[in-house]
Parts: sequence; C-alpha cells; structure tokens
Amino acid sequence: MSSKSEVKLPAHVVIFPIPAQGHMNSMLNLAHLFCLSDLHVTFIVSEFTHRLLLKNTSVPATFAAYPGFQFRAIPDGLPDDHPRFGAQAGGVNPAVINNMVPLFKKMMADEGFLASPHRRPATCFVADGSFSFAADFAEENGLPLVYFRTPSAAYCWAFFQVYDLIQAQEIPIKGKSMDGLVKGILGMEGFLRSRDLPTFFRTDDVNDHLLQSKAATTRQIVRAQAVIFNTFEDLEGPILSAMFEKLPRIYSIGPIHEHQKSRLIEKKSEASIVAGNLWPEDRSCIDWLNAQPARSVIYVSFGSITVVTREQLMEFWHGLDNSSQRFLWVMRSDFVTGEDGDDQIPAELMEGTKEKGYMVKWAPQEEVLGHPAVGAFLTHSGWNSTLESIVAGVPMICWPYFGDQTINSRFVSEVWKIGLDIKDTCDRLIIEKAVREVMEVRKDEFLERADGMSKMAKKAVQRGGSSYTNLDALIEYIKSLITISA
Ligand code: UDP
Repeated sequence: MSSKSEVKLPAHVVIFPIPAQGHMNSMLNLAHLFCLSDLHVTFIVSEFTHRLLLKNTSVPATFAAYPGFQFRAIPDGLPDDHPRFGAQAGGVNPAVINNMVPLFKKMMADEGFLASPHRRPATCFVADGSFSFAADFAEENGLPLVYFRTPSAAYCWAFFQVYDLIQAQEIPIKGKSMDGLVKGILGMEGFLRSRDLPTFFRTDDVNDHLLQSKAATTRQIVRAQAVIFNTFEDLEGPILSAMFEKLPRIYSIGPIHEHQKSRLIEKKSEASIVAGNLWPEDRSCIDWLNAQPARSVIYVSFGSITVVTREQLMEFWHGLDNSSQRFLWVMRSDFVTGEDGDDQIPAELMEGTKEKGYMVKWAPQEEVLGHPAVGAFLTHSGWNSTLESIVAGVPMICWPYFGDQTINSRFVSEVWKIGLDIKDTCDRLIIEKAVREVMEVRKDEFLERADGMSKMAKKAVQRGGSSYTNLDALIEYIKSLITISA
C-alpha cells in the first residue's frame, strides 16, 4: 500500500539508456516529454556522459526547471581517458553491463527504489531495449517494465525472425547472392535483400555470438509490459502492425525530437529543447551556411561511432570534390582509423575543402538539416539522423556502416524513395554520381517526396496525430501502473 504522503505524488519513472550518443538523445527527449506531463523522472547516466552533458549542453539547466527530475550518475568502470566513441565504442557495452548495471541494482535496493519524501519509489522502469538484464530485474522486483527500442522498428522486427530465417535456410547468407530477396520477414518480402539485413546477420555461422545474443535480447522484449518505438505509423505502419502479434502494447511516439518541440509549443513552455549532444557544437557552420544559396549544400555526417580508413576518406573527398557541389562535412577527430599517422586528416583535403566546403568537428545537426541552404544529407543512416532528415525534408545518400543502418538505408531508397543507398561501396565515381543524382538530376523529385514525408512526420506529433495520441496513451498507462506497484 502507498503511504498517505505518497498518495498525491505522481508516478516515478526510472529511465536507463545505454550511455551512447544515439541512445541518450532519444531517451532524454522521452524524459522531457514525461516531465511536461508532470511525471517524476530519474535518468541514469554514466559519470562520464554526465560530465559531458554538464560541460557541453544546456540539458541539465533545462531539467533543473522540473523539480520532479533528477540525474543519477554511476561510474561505467572505464578509465577516464578511454575514448568511448568512434572505433572504441564497442568497449562501452560490456563495461556498462559489468560495472554500471550492478551498481544501478545496488542503488535501487539500497535506496528503496529511489524513494524520498518528495518522490515515490519508482513505479515504472523504462529501460533501453538493448538491456537484457532489465526483464529479470523488473520481474524479480515486481517493477513494471517498459522497453524503449531506440533503433527502427524494422531492425527489431528483423531480429524477431532470426530463428525462422535459420529454419528456412535464408541465413547464413554464405553461398547466396547478397542481392537475393529475403522472403521470411513479414512486411519486407518485396524489397529486403540479404545485403540489407542488419550487419550482425553477415556471418557464416548461425551460432555466432553477436547474432544469437541480439536475437535473444530482442525476443525478450515480449517480457515487458509495453514497448516504445521512436517511429510513426505513416513511416513504419506495416512493420508495427506485423509486430502487434508478438507485442500487443506498442507505443510509437516518434519522431521524438519533433514531438518534444510540438509539445513545448502547445504548452507555450519556455523550456529549451533538450538535445543531448555530448560534444561541443561548432556553430560557425551556420554562419557559413547563411552565405550559401538555397538547397546548394550537401551535409556530410556519419554520427558518433562510424569510422573510415584513410583510403575511404579520400574516396569520399574526391567524390564530393568531383561532384562540384558545396559541402559541409562533420569530421570528428576520431573519424579516421589507422596507425602511424594514417588516422590524421590529410593536409591536401583540409586545404582543398576551403574552396567549396566547410568542416567542423561536431555540428548542431538538427539546425543544419533545417537550414534552407542544405539540399541533401550524406549519412551513415543512424536512426536519429534518418528521423532528423525526414523531419527536415532533406533527401539522403546513405552509406550505412553497421547495426540497423543497412536496413534503414533500404527503406530510405526503396520504400520511402527519399534518397539513394550506396551501401557496400566506397568509390569516388559512385559517390560523385550519387551526389549529382540527388543534388541535380533528380533533385526536384527527391525534394518533393522528402517534403511529403516531412509533413507526415510533423502531423504525427501534433494533436490528433498518431504519435501524439500514442504518447497520451503511454502516459495514462504509466500513471495506471502506480496501483500495480503500490
Ligand atoms: N549529431 C550532431 N552533430 C553531429 C553529428 C551527429 O548533433 O555533428 C547527432 C545527430 O543529430 C543524432 C546523433 O548525433 O541525433 C547521432 O545519432 P544516430 O542514431 O544518427 O547515429 P549514431 O551516432 O548512434 O551512430
């Protein structure tokens, strides 16, 4: 039973994302949407990412305006000088599982599910969909669990089919044409090729550890009371419908970054938009964009994890240079891998870029994509970047790198038809041709379709839209959970 003083306190949601840029962004947006609905929120961060948020963003200041919100920072167990992003990003997940998760469990136990005189014990746990520990933890503690799958719904759905695809001998892919259609994934039979499956499917061994563990993690999201997706019905409707068979309580509430904006406007709130960029943004690129003609610039960015070799870097650069288009390129300091100086950005590239290009280490991406000078986005097809481009109505050239990106890029080119997919190639001629195609030859066609998709995305998060209605339902559902956990 709730104590008398608790009766008036709102529901208390504990949100725990994987402390990586793409996961944090959308889950911080979710936290803000919950705060706007007067829920109490505890947001779990690593000490490292918390320091970056404090140093580089206004996120902590924005949340300070909500008395029901708190960050709780936990060490991730990695040394301070571990890069955690780029080529080293793979080291973060095991460290989080081995160090952060046990400390999180202990904190929850020691502090009575984070109760205080002003805060109920947690009434709902919103865990990153990649956290397989969450299902056992929630069940053992009688805490309602909602998973948040931060990548596309299509990616999740593909992993649901792994065992059936093995049975049907559609995987392993070995010995088959990468361009052959995969028949066994409901809703994608007509267009998904082996090449487009999530990169973890690219193994000759059906017992491959990564393939099996990702499939197992995905299948156990059915143990949650509900699942949130950062997508919207007009975008991934057929996939969401197919998933209802396995996941009856799905809330698609995206694009969540735009949803946050729409709710702030509706509430006439003066709170700033939460954008959890962990790196300092170089705003000089906005001044540069201001001086460029409308739709004349291709924005080039590969997110926070993708890395390239020096050879690939030069192919991209020559392709862009030969296309004669202007470009704005995000060149993270850890973007190029290599040894003995091979990871340095070549001087000729820096020099050559000055003529028609501009480079920054990290851009205010949403603002860049919304800038009238930007005509296309050369992207790695990370899900946040894809949604941000869709909202901005900017066509894409997709060079997917790993994970869900290979499937996202297929949807961009073949289903939504708002761009081109150049996966598995890195050749200056192909890059040049793709840039010319999207920026010149088929420019109007792509812009028109991207504009249509942008309108649908914005409509979804406005009153009466599917994501808007689903968020209201999610919040009501979370409020109803108080009685279960009391
Ligand atoms: N981003 C940014 N500035 C940059 C590059 C990326 O703000 O210069 C943001 C981008 O807006 C997106 C996130 O970083 O929200 C990247 O997430 P995504 O899922 O696209 O890719 P990931 O980094 O997870 O591979």
